Amino acid sequence: MPREFDCDVVVIGGGPAGSTAASALARAGRQVVLLERDRFPRFHIGESLLASVNDVFEAIGVADRIRAAGFPKKWGASFITPDGRVERFADFAISNEVRAPQTWQVPRERLDMLLLEHAAASGADVRQGHRVLDAAFDDDGVTISLRAPAIDGGPAPTSTIRSRVVIDASGRAGLLSRAFSLRVDEPTLANVAIFSHYAGVPRGEGRRAGDIRVVARRDLGWFWLIPISDDLMSVGVVLPQSVFLTLPKLEPDVLLERLIGDTPATARLMRQAERKWPVRVETDFSFGSRAYAGDRWIIVGDAGSFLDPVFSSGVAIALESALEGARAVDRALAGGRVSAPAFAGFDRRQRQRYAAFRRFVLAFYTPAFRDLFFSDDPPKHMFRAVVTVLAGYWRPSLATRAWLALFFLSVRLQQRLGFAPSHVQE
Ligand SMILES: Cc1cc2nc3c(=O)[nH]c(=O)nc-3n(C[C@H](O)[C@H](O)[C@H](O)COP(=O)(O)OP(=O)(O)OC[C@H]3O[C@@H](n4cnc5c(N)ncnc54)[C@H](O)[C@@H]3O)c2cc1C
Repeated sequence: MPREFDCDVVVIGGGPAGSTAASALARAGRQVVLLERDRFPRFHIGESLLASVNDVFEAIGVADRIRAAGFPKKWGASFITPDGRVERFADFAISNEVRAPQTWQVPRERLDMLLLEHAAASGADVRQGHRVLDAAFDDDGVTISLRAPAIDGGPAPTSTIRSRVVIDASGRAGLLSRAFSLRVDEPTLANVAIFSHYAGVPRGEGRRAGDIRVVARRDLGWFWLIPISDDLMSVGVVLPQSVFLTLPKLEPDVLLERLIGDTPATARLMRQAERKWPVRVETDFSFGSRAYAGDRWIIVGDAGSFLDPVFSSGVAIALESALEGARAVDRALAGGRVSAPAFAGFDRRQRQRYAAFRRFVLAFYTPAFRDLFFSDDPPKHMFRAVVTVLAGYWRPSLATRAWLALFFLSVRLQQRLGFAPSHVQE
C-alpha cells in the first residue's frame, strides 16, 4: 500500500522563489509544506530588484506589504565609466512596456522574512530550521527526507514527508539539480564578488537617489553601489576569476579597499565611507540547467540556474519562475498528471528567460558592449529597448525585439570595427 500523502507540494527553500511558489499554491487552495534550512531573518546577497517583480508581488497578494515596508525606491540604474566622466541613466519609466517602473532596493533579511511570513499567512505550513536531505521519487509520489531542529540539545531528528510534487527552490545549493547532474557551467562567467555595507556614501539627487550605480572597471570587472536603507549602501565589486587570480593574496577587507582605491569613480564616492559589516567574498559562477522539470518535480530560481548579478536579474527570475512554476504545478495537480509533459511549457519558458538575460550578461563582459552603452546619444528606440529588458521584461513586443537585434548587431560591429570611441579601455 503506498503511504498516504502529507501534502500536495513540498517546497524546498524559503528564499524569494520558495516563498513565492508556496504563497501562490497555498492561495490556490493546495496543501503546501515549505522547508527552510535556516532561521530567518538571515543575511543574503541580492539587494537590487527589477521593475518586473511588481507584477509577481501583485499576483501573490503581497504588494501592499512591500509598499508599506519603506524600502528605498528604485527607478532605475546609473552606469558609470571607470573615470566617472560618463554616467548613463537607465530609467525604467522610459519604456511603456514596463507596467510599474518604480521598484525597490532591499536588505534581503527583511524582504525574505516578509515573503516567508506572507507564505505562512497565505496558508502554507512554513517550517524553518528544517534541512532537506533527499527527495526519493516513485511512480506514486515523492518522499522527502529532512533533518528537523534538535530538541533540548539532543541529536537533530530526521523524518520524512510524503508529497505529490516537489518544488526545488534551494538556491545555489541546488538540491535536485546536483542530484540529477543537471548543471551546465558558464566558464566565461566565472566571477568573484567581494562586498560589504557602508555608511557615509553620497546618493544621487531626487529620482536618482535610489538608483543602483554600476561603475565599470577597466579590467572588465565592475562595482555596485546599492542604497539599501536611509544610511546603508551595499558596495561590492565583481571581477572575472582570471583577473582575481592575478591579484595579490590579501585579506578580503584590504583587497576591497585597494579595488575601491584604483577605480576613480568609486573612490570618489567612497571618500567618507565607513564600513559597517565584515567583508564577504562569494564566487558568483553562472550556470544553467539541462532541465527545469521532470516527473513530480520542478526547479525554480537559483536552484536551476544562476546569472552573474550585473543586471540585478536574480530575484526577478526567481520570483517569476516560481510564480509560473507554481501555476504549472497547480494545473498539473488539477489535471491529475504531475509528469514531465505537464511541465514542458514551464521548462521551455525558464530556458528562454535565462537565455534572454544571459545574452545581456555575456555582452556586458565585452569592451564593445560597454563602449556602445556609454556612447554619446545612443539611438532612443534602441536604448529604450535595452532598458525594457533591464527592467525585467525579457519578452517584449516585436518592435522592441527588433531594436534589440539591431543593438546586438551593433555590438558585433563595434567588436570588429570599433566605430564608437572607447570610454572603458586604456
Ligand atoms: C554577489 C551577488 C550579488 C547579487 N546581486 C543581486 C541583485 O542586486 N539583485 C538580484 O535580483 N539578485 C542578485 N543576486 C542574485 C540573488 O541573490 C539570487 O538570484 C536570489 O537570491 C535567488 O533567490 P532564490 O529564492 O532562488 O534562492 P535563495 O535566495 O538563495 O534562497 C534559497 C533558500 O533555500 C534554502 N536552502 C538551501 N538548501 C536547503 C535545504 N537542503 N533544505 C532547506 N532549505 C534549503 C536556503 O537557506 C535559502 O534560504 C546576487 C547574487 C550574488 C552572488
